[in-house]
Amino acid sequence: MIVVMNPGTGEKEVTRITDKLKKMGYGVHISAGESRTIIGVIGQRREEVAQAMEAMPEVEKVVFISRPFKLAGREYHPENTVIRIGDLTIGDAELVIMAGPCAIENEEQLIEAAEAVKKAGARVLRAGAFKPRTSPYSFQGLEQQGLKFLNRVREKTGLLIVTEVMDQFTAEEVAECADIIQVGARNMQNFYLLRELGRLRKPVLLKRGLSATIEEWLMAAEYILSGGNYDVILCERGIRTFEPYTRNTLDLSSVPLVKQLSHLPVIVDPSHGTGLSGLVPAMSKAALAAGADGLMIEVHPNPQEALSDGPQSLTPAQFRTLTRELKGVALSVGRLI
Ligand code: PEP
Ligand code: MN
Repeated sequence: MIVVMNPGTGEKEVTRITDKLKKMGYGVHISAGESRTIIGVIGQRREEVAQAMEAMPEVEKVVFISRPFKLAGREYHPENTVIRIGDLTIGDAELVIMAGPCAIENEEQLIEAAEAVKKAGARVLRAGAFKPRTSPYSFQGLEQQGLKFLNRVREKTGLLIVTEVMDQFTAEEVAECADIIQVGARNMQNFYLLRELGRLRKPVLLKRGLSATIEEWLMAAEYILSGGNYDVILCERGIRTFEPYTRNTLDLSSVPLVKQLSHLPVIVDPSHGTGLSGLVPAMSKAALAAGADGLMIEVHPNPQEALSDGPQSLTPAQFRTLTRELKGVALSVGRLI
């Protein structure tokens, strides 16, 4: 259940109530919104506890949460979550563009891509050092060497870094380098990894699993949130359907739906969502129109020579044109780029 405090209730009163709940054996999560504080109460549902809480003068109401995702749901946290990383905000009116190559191939390629996406307006550089490849014979990523290149590129360009973590054993070293840790589609239900990311206090970008339902996706986010890490960004990247023309089917209806169900920011990856660079501009615009808080787009200095995901990568020139066109779409839905 959640305990909704009266608007303007002070910290002392909130502590009085949380102490009382803890003495009764409940866990508590405090969510301090702009106007009111909400206490998430974790433990057995008991009517008499709810009644006792409701009888307290500082309490406006007590609500039983019906959905299985307690902390990710809007019932618990009605206002949008805004994640702050340095001077970047994710989840408010300003849209975030994350862009860069699928994989780090060498330092020159990474710098070239980073400078190009920065010039076109991206604030976050995406690039994989650890790559989850379908075939063990495909390029697997530069791993630790890639992380070193990312550190140097951040210093050089000032871009923030989002990069993928593959398992809980390398989570700490990836967290040291990344400003945002990416959990790939294939790892969405790696619960040991999710638990570890709940412990490490770095923002997490959680991609939707290849065939995950929206509830499974939000429950995966719940693992991270319940570990005490509230900075979770959801990323729709397409799901597997019967349609072979596209790599995945980009489920854009999930964007407004997840935003109704959850307070977490939602971004869209039209590159993996379609697998075809020719579809990326249209789907990027559609994603913003659907209410996405940002985009993750693959950009490669020379897509034809890319070691992974070349067919879905934009050239720097195509990306520049796209970011220019996106400004109008953003304005039309009351957002800014
Ligand atoms: C990626 O971002 O390069 C990637 C592997 O994405 P996904 O996990 O969505 O397939
Ligand atoms: Mn990729």
